[in-house]
Amino acid sequence: MSQCLFCKIVRKEIPAKILWEDDLALAFEDIDPKAPTHVLVIPRKHLASLEEADWEDRQCLGHLVMVARELARQRGHGESGYRTVFNTGPDAGQSVFHIHLHLLGGRQLAWPPG
Ligand code: 5GP
Ligand code: ZN
Repeated sequence: MSQCLFCKIVRKEIPAKILWEDDLALAFEDIDPKAPTHVLVIPRKHLASLEEADWEDRQCLGHLVMVARELARQRGHGESGYRTVFNTGPDAGQSVFHIHLHLLGGRQLAWPPG
């Protein structure tokens, strides 16, 4: 069994505030939110990062983006806006190596990020 933190959330071995579940993806509240809405959207399938993805994963990755949009709309950010981010590798500060799409919204977000 994978020791990966987010695989454990997929298997419900550790708790998370789950907002979305379907055959491909899961979305849950970030444990250390950086905005009023800070949700992580992940594939059920373990994939370490965007660098590890194959072209065959593109449907799954596109699915994560559409789930993020759906949740952003549900939270009322469709008009006001929101940000979706994949951190990939050391320079981006990736800390959990199960790919996740951050959805941030509910406040003005600075650009560029740090
Ligand atoms: P990264 O830095 O890899 O792009 O993002 C990892 C994110 O996972 C961080 O925003 C961090 O707060 C979140 N995170 C780390 N551990 C847990 C956890 O056990 N549960 C939840 N819900 N989020 C976590
Ligand atoms: Zn994993």
